[in-house]
Amino acid sequence: MKKVDILVVGGSAAGLTAAITARRHYPEKSTLLIRKESQVLIPCGIPYIFGTVGSPEKNLIPDGALTQNQIELLVDEVTGLDPSKNQVSTAGGQSVAYERLILATGSLPAMPPIPGFELNGVYPIFKDVAHLRNMQEALKSVSDLVIIGGGFIGVEFADECKKSLRANVSIVEVLPHCLLLAYDEDFCTHAEELLKERGISLITSMKVNRIAGKSSVEGVELADRTTLPAQAVILGIGAAANITLAERAGLRIGVTGSIAVDRTMRTSDERIYACGDCAEKVSFFGGRPSPLKLASIATAEARIAAANLFGTRRENIGTVGVWSTVVGDTAFATAGLTELLATRHGHDYVIGTAEAPNRHPGGMPGMRKMKVKLVFERRTGVILGGQVMGDAAGGEVINTISACVQRRMTAEDVAMFQTGTHPALTASPIAYQLVNAAEAAIAALH
Ligand SMILES: Cc1cc2nc3c(=O)[nH]c(=O)nc-3n(C[C@H](O)[C@H](O)[C@H](O)COP(=O)(O)OP(=O)(O)OC[C@H]3O[C@@H](n4cnc5c(N)ncnc54)[C@H](O)[C@@H]3O)c2cc1C
Repeated sequence: MKKVDILVVGGSAAGLTAAITARRHYPEKSTLLIRKESQVLIPCGIPYIFGTVGSPEKNLIPDGALTQNQIELLVDEVTGLDPSKNQVSTAGGQSVAYERLILATGSLPAMPPIPGFELNGVYPIFKDVAHLRNMQEALKSVSDLVIIGGGFIGVEFADECKKSLRANVSIVEVLPHCLLLAYDEDFCTHAEELLKERGISLITSMKVNRIAGKSSVEGVELADRTTLPAQAVILGIGAAANITLAERAGLRIGVTGSIAVDRTMRTSDERIYACGDCAEKVSFFGGRPSPLKLASIATAEARIAAANLFGTRRENIGTVGVWSTVVGDTAFATAGLTELLATRHGHDYVIGTAEAPNRHPGGMPGMRKMKVKLVFERRTGVILGGQVMGDAAGGEVINTISACVQRRMTAEDVAMFQTGTHPALTASPIAYQLVNAAEAAIAALH
């Protein structure tokens, strides 16, 4: 039997980050990472395989970080976990004993309770090179593609498929707008206008009744009894934690169906930690269970879990929820609570918005407008969240906003930022959107 100090199961965002962090914090400990697949996809890059990037092989996480950090790799599937013996067994017949174990087994695509989802031509998004290669090949001959789910994955797939396929592309979304769980209506409406300009059909406020066809997809029947023709359907309706191993081993499962962990990312077994999509999350805002599954959360949790393996060094503050997407070349980014979510959380809030060119003077090359919207709690002036739309820099500005949220900064703190600016790189210091959005909110607070 092989023996290691630290064993990580899973080799994607959470597993790889956990192994690297473990080596940083405990360089004297031997670390083995076991993952199922020989090639690991960059999960967030998957939609771009179908347009901009071109193939699964161009969207891989290199294994260099493993060798650089002296992390041993075993490509195999862990099929058994016995916490009483501190050991795992694999499909390939290996047994490995561990001193500490990190489960980073991720998630699988959520399957809808929709009749017909098992038909040929229905594609859940598995993070698997062969699956995506087959899917890419099959989509080439499709003339009508329907995407179920208008969240960021559905929107990114629609945009990318429209770039590379001749097919009619439609999104069916049950909510009144695409992206409504991430952005307020004004932002969603703009994203929808851009999607329509790009030739994508949007059917919102609409449920799917069933996917029609004998053995292969022929259409998607909607709740209003109309049927969209379809030879392929992509499911973009979320992900479910992959807890098979943990459940079989008797680890406690949380209310969202993920592996229960405490703030140190420790499971119900004191030698086993879990992080990433497989681990239960609580919201930064009030500590209730959170359904969010993001690479940013997975890697942050991995850094917590691995640092804590032999003594508590870090604690999880809960999920803020920060991420971005892009429609065409317009960035949409969000962190924390939107107006809608602030209302749902029972906050009395004020908003501040500011829009300005991202260069000064505006005639500088590469000028794009960027809009920042911030949400503050009225009573305290503490920032609850923000959204950014426009220039690609929005993908980084949102990370500043996320830092403000995590440090519970007030509108006054944000308004008093000393921001670095440059004519060719940023908005003017006079019109700097983040600061001016905070100033606008302060005016509304008084
Ligand atoms: C299409 C798409 C686009 C996305 N875009 C974004 C984005 O832009 N930004 C963002 O923040 N998030 C995005 N996400 C979410 C993000 O991909 C996930 O949050 C992230 O992949 C979670 O990482 P993870 O390591 O926890 O799990 P996973 O990526 O699911 O990886 C799990 C790993 O565990 C391995 N494994 C599982 N079981 C076993 C076993 N029994 N034995 C051995 N190995 C095992 C798997 O093979 C895999 O290596 C996107 C997701 C998808 C599907």
